[in-house]
Amino acid sequence: SREWRLLSRPVGWPKAEDFELAEAEIRQPGPGEVLVRNAYLSVDPYMRGRMSAAKSYTAPFELGRAMQGGAVGEVVASNAEGIAVGDHVLHFGGWREYATFDAAQAVKVDPEAAPLSTYLGVLGMTGLTAYAGLLRTAALKEGDVVFVSGAAGAVGSQVGQIAKLKGASRVIGSAGSDEKVKLLVEEYGFDAAFNYKNGSVSEQLREAAPDGIDVYFDNVGGDHLEAAIGSLNEGGRIVICGMISVYNNTEPAPGPRNLARLIQTRGRIEGFLVGDHYDLQSQFVQEVGPWVASGALKYRETIVEGIENNLEAFLGVLRGDNTGKMIVKL
Ligand code: NDP
Repeated sequence: SREWRLLSRPVGWPKAEDFELAEAEIRQPGPGEVLVRNAYLSVDPYMRGRMSAAKSYTAPFELGRAMQGGAVGEVVASNAEGIAVGDHVLHFGGWREYATFDAAQAVKVDPEAAPLSTYLGVLGMTGLTAYAGLLRTAALKEGDVVFVSGAAGAVGSQVGQIAKLKGASRVIGSAGSDEKVKLLVEEYGFDAAFNYKNGSVSEQLREAAPDGIDVYFDNVGGDHLEAAIGSLNEGGRIVICGMISVYNNTEPAPGPRNLARLIQTRGRIEGFLVGDHYDLQSQFVQEVGPWVASGALKYRETIVEGIENNLEAFLGVLRGDNTGKMIVKL
């Protein structure tokens, strides 16, 4: 069985030499454990943080050991009550072909109810991030004007569509290619979208939202955050979900220069961590599941095949190769 290990902590952009695809023995499950053959692996921006030694909200990956991440697979051996061979589970033993772990860390998923890959994306962690971040942390209200960055990605595309379904009056998205911008408007129903690589974010946002914004869902940080503060209306809410534009920085990025606007607007900026919101998981699936099934909420996945391409898929997320959730299929 092959597994990806971190050999050295990347400085700046991760390089192939920082990683190794190694052979590992398949361990039979001990008491209470299951052995799973992975079918889909998740690659996510937060994994860049775990490659560094600095303490963040998740522990750093250990050097020389298999990395971890979300994964869905089929149980091929079980030594645990309640989980049988042939069951499909969502778990955290990604970046490898086979994983043996405590069954308490596995959540059964139903391949008949939805395609297995969706439990990593639109019905999984990134979906809950969009749902909880927008509805609970940003406290979306009917009539709000909403701006979301990373809008063609897994979280962002769902934020924009949930906002529309929940009565936002106008939804604006930014993304890194004209093709993605077109998709946002033509397929996902955004009212306006722009390519942040085509010019100033502040100017493009002001043009797209001439009456300002009430909610900004930040996936990017940097000039996007400053632009959002500049366009924020009175009582506006900014959710800091991610800051992908700085994840590979070797020096701290400059902060927004216009924070004083928060005084005049009484605006609020709040950090968000999906792990705090799993109490909304069943409500999320109950509400969003039918939208996905009916096509009211659309999603894309970028599927990369083969464990040997796991690292490239991860780097692809940082580069913007993906539209919707980036997933590795084994
Ligand atoms: P995405 O599917 O959105 O993929 C990341 C996207 O970021 C890329 O496709 C790329 O799209 C964009 N991007 C990369 N570099 C830049 C840049 N310099 N400026 C602007 N955009 C850039 O990933 P996710 O949906 O999984 O995650 C989105 C964000 O949410 C991330 O910041 C992530 O860390 C965060 N997150 C936070 C969670 C939390 O609990 N706080 C939970 C889950 C995710 P493009 O082509 O448009 O540049």
